[in-house]
Amino acid sequence: MPEKILEVKHVNAYYREGKTRRQILDDVSFTLYEGEIVGLVGESGSGKSTLCKCVLGLLKDYEGEVVHYTKRPQMVFQDPFSALNPRKTIGWILEEPLRVKGGSSRQERRKKAEEMLQRVHLPEDFYGRYPRELSGGQRQRVSIALALITGTKFILADEPLSALDVTVQAQIIALLKELQEKEKICYLFVSHDLDVVSMLCGRVLFLQDGKVCSLDEA
Ligand code: ADP
Ligand code: MG
Repeated sequence: MPEKILEVKHVNAYYREGKTRRQILDDVSFTLYEGEIVGLVGESGSGKSTLCKCVLGLLKDYEGEVVHYTKRPQMVFQDPFSALNPRKTIGWILEEPLRVKGGSSRQERRKKAEEMLQRVHLPEDFYGRYPRELSGGQRQRVSIALALITGTKFILADEPLSALDVTVQAQIIALLKELQEKEKICYLFVSHDLDVVSMLCGRVLFLQDGKVCSLDEA
């Protein structure tokens, strides 16, 4: 049996709008296993991002259970530009989680950051570059490296390819698959694009009005 990464059990989630409490998620349950890519698909407003917030612990008003069996997931966002501090170099950005964690020397952090660039197939000299000097696809590779440098095996990606053109999307899909196969990285992959999901995901979770309507093989 593959190792469990995440269990979401009977989650009802709510937002407060003035005096009313509006239910967004309705009895959502699923399990994620090591090394798998699960798609989360649904129309705009169906609750995909809300479910991500519950999984990340950013939304407190919910009933049910969210159980993490490993390190917390790291986010990869749709817009890789806003996720990267424009005033810092790629090296500085990648090293930030290590500085925050503490216990590593400057040289160790640099070595790790350069290794991460390799893992996402960027040249080592990107270490000294700024986000604006990178293309959208390259910035998304940095975002993936930034997630992985924490040592997590679980990436939560909310529409990570939506801002990229089709050729670049295919390259990032190949990278995500490679990381899944080589390193057993697991993804919850949010998308409104069924083509992308069918290329990448083993299973798909369809959300409609906050309910999971089916869990299919892609
Ligand atoms: P999706 O990511 O699938 O497009 P969301 O989870 O962002 O959907 O939104 C689900 C519903 O919750 C929508 O009706 C949206 O308007 C509402 N919503 C999202 N964020 C908030 C918020 N911070 N406060 C109140 N309502 C929200
Ligand atoms: Mg969303």
